[in-house]
Amino acid sequence: MTVDLVVRNGVVVTPGATFEGGVAIDEGIIVAVGAESALPDAEKSLDAGGSYIFPGLLDPHVHFRDPGMTYKEDFTTGSTAAVYGGITSVLDMPNVKPITDRPEQILLREELIHQKSYVDVMLVGVVVQENVEQIIPMAQAGAIGFKVFLGSTIGNIPAPDDGVLLDALGCVAETGLRIGFHAENDQILKHRVRQLQAMGRTDPIAHVESRPAICEAESIQRMALFAKYTGAKIHIYHLSSKDGMEMIGDYKKNGLDITTETGPHYMFLSEEDMEEMGPVLRMNPPVRSKEHGLALWAGINDGRVDFIADDHSPHTEEEKMNPDIWKAISGFVGVETLMQVTYSEAVVKRGMSVNHFVKICSENGARAWDCFPQKGSLEPGTDGDLTIFDPNRRWKIDRHQLHSKNRVTPWHLWEGQGLPVGTIVRGQVQMWDREFVANGPGGKLIRPIVA
Ligand SMILES: [Zn+2]
Repeated sequence: MTVDLVVRNGVVVTPGATFEGGVAIDEGIIVAVGAESALPDAEKSLDAGGSYIFPGLLDPHVHFRDPGMTYKEDFTTGSTAAVYGGITSVLDMPNVKPITDRPEQILLREELIHQKSYVDVMLVGVVVQENVEQIIPMAQAGAIGFKVFLGSTIGNIPAPDDGVLLDALGCVAETGLRIGFHAENDQILKHRVRQLQAMGRTDPIAHVESRPAICEAESIQRMALFAKYTGAKIHIYHLSSKDGMEMIGDYKKNGLDITTETGPHYMFLSEEDMEEMGPVLRMNPPVRSKEHGLALWAGINDGRVDFIADDHSPHTEEEKMNPDIWKAISGFVGVETLMQVTYSEAVVKRGMSVNHFVKICSENGARAWDCFPQKGSLEPGTDGDLTIFDPNRRWKIDRHQLHSKNRVTPWHLWEGQGLPVGTIVRGQVQMWDREFVANGPGGKLIRPIVA
């Protein structure tokens, strides 16, 4: 038999195995994985040149801002950056305009993804005070899960009250999907901001002090309790603290279905960098002291933290670069640099195994969001998504060469080793040898597989 595409002469890496060989894809689906002798003939044959062949890598937390805030980013530019970053699937957030709070918005955005995106996309519906009855319809329209903003952040979407939240978790439990939380206690952080502003503080560390670890810990323990009472599966977005991480470890041990993610900035940067970079590094929740970063690093290695996600949050220079930290908007871009930075810092510098890297950058995100093994695996019969990764290529990031609409990033001038050199989405080669070679968009909305 002759298939559409074979990528050969690579080192195939999965969470459980490493071997020389390649992957064959036909009609967008993986049909063979193995040594050279096990691969069929193909119309198109690509030589990986000894690089790693990973299951397509995921960034399960991006803000592509489409629709409504496309001066910051859109599905075309965001997904182009993802493709250069070796990412084949993303989970895009619902704080766009209008917010993704009903099935019509899921369907509208599915169309935008199809017209504009070069990668596949998961969408989460947002839960607010007034839309609990939209939860099941959003699930039916194709939402991969849900999100609640417990603390004030971009878009100023107010959190539902506790009564509504409890109902919402009950509804989510019925869908079998997962609901995630931007976990920050709004009352504590608003009180702290007022106090610090009254003291005349405008320095970068004031932002860190305004959102202490207890903000995160309090939200996590409340949502874990709600989950226990409703049976909902929950997720904590962008985990930033040792305190939160240790609590989640305990909940997991006790059998609660709770997952979490963290980003390279929380593990490998600290408030010392915040002092230096100021508004560039402003993020909600904030990057904290080194002690928190070391704890998260331990957690990503022992499984208390499930996966890596960037929280790619583009804003214009004007919105971002205000020396008064309260006036500088939170968030920065990172989808394009996520995998190279994480690989370099985790595998090259700190000795993580490449198999574990694949687990936390591909498999675990897909498992948490109910689309494994369609995404996040190399199993025959699943989507033909591959990331080709050269472990030896050295790099230095220049923000001016990134592909997002806006390019403020704390990783500017960062150096390291290990770079994505090929991105294949359902058998379509989108990037090869650092050249963007996509035929056109055509991204798909990734629907959950719920038993
Ligand atoms: Zn976010």
